[in-house]
Amino acid sequence: MKVYIDGKYLDERNAKVSVFDHGLLYGDGIFEGIRAYNGRVFKLKEHIDRLFSSAKAILLEIPLSHAELMKATVATIRANKLRDCYVRLIITRGIGTLGLNPRSCKKPSVIIIAGKIQVYPAELYARGMDIVTVPTTRNLHSALNPAIKSLNYLNNILAKIEANNAGVEEAVMLNSEGFVAECTADNLFIIKDGKLFTPPLSAGALYGITRQTVMELAEQNGVAVTEPNLTRYDLFNADECFLTGTGAEIMPVIKIDGRVIGTGKPGPLTQKLVAEYHALTKVTGQPIYG
Ligand code: PMP
Repeated sequence: MKVYIDGKYLDERNAKVSVFDHGLLYGDGIFEGIRAYNGRVFKLKEHIDRLFSSAKAILLEIPLSHAELMKATVATIRANKLRDCYVRLIITRGIGTLGLNPRSCKKPSVIIIAGKIQVYPAELYARGMDIVTVPTTRNLHSALNPAIKSLNYLNNILAKIEANNAGVEEAVMLNSEGFVAECTADNLFIIKDGKLFTPPLSAGALYGITRQTVMELAEQNGVAVTEPNLTRYDLFNADECFLTGTGAEIMPVIKIDGRVIGTGKPGPLTQKLVAEYHALTKVTGQPIYG
């Protein structure tokens, strides 16, 4: 595997960062998880846009332009001769002193890894997932805004550990007011009476690119989509529930906190959206090989 680091393609064994990089020392940096299907990078522009928004929020100057970063991403996939892959694009604050002041970091680093990912076992997609609400709440906007896709994922990791300890794969994270925010690496949707609902960004959800795509697909199918605050009660009484993310794609949920959702099987609208999402990923996106 060839890994892009600051303009160079390094062999996997030599793809290393300094122990003085503030990305490692403090989680000071941002990232994107991007996917390519069938020789095309899906929603590349949207991912790079979000990366620049995260950068702006933490006053990090990305050393490449939007267009250069798109080119570097595609070139890294090409260097690895991949057509279907997962890309991790990382910008760290760069090398600095042991103090946390970002001013000591003179040059942010750009890292691009193109490889494979299987977030969840394949049979789970057919059966649907069992998830639980966990005690760790989503970060406050006023502390660390969940809209920033930062290298500091401990909030999510703590929730994931709690899900693991409960014997399930994913956690529903509530915000400090008790409203549903999202899962540890996925947005959450419910369907009730033929309408689609997902928590607003103000509840602590990431502005998910799969979330946006699914909302557009639903609207094209004449399904009303709204973003109200949701409580656990709304989840328990939903007809269908699913999670969305670049890595996970669309994962049906069949049980939450021991309550069976709908019929206890992936629902018809969920299945329709899954089929349409897969169809879309195969035909749209930035071509990798011209
Ligand atoms: N929420 C969180 C916390 C995430 O890390 C992610 C990305 N894995 C998502 C939601 C889904 O976002 P996207 O659809 O843009 O991948």
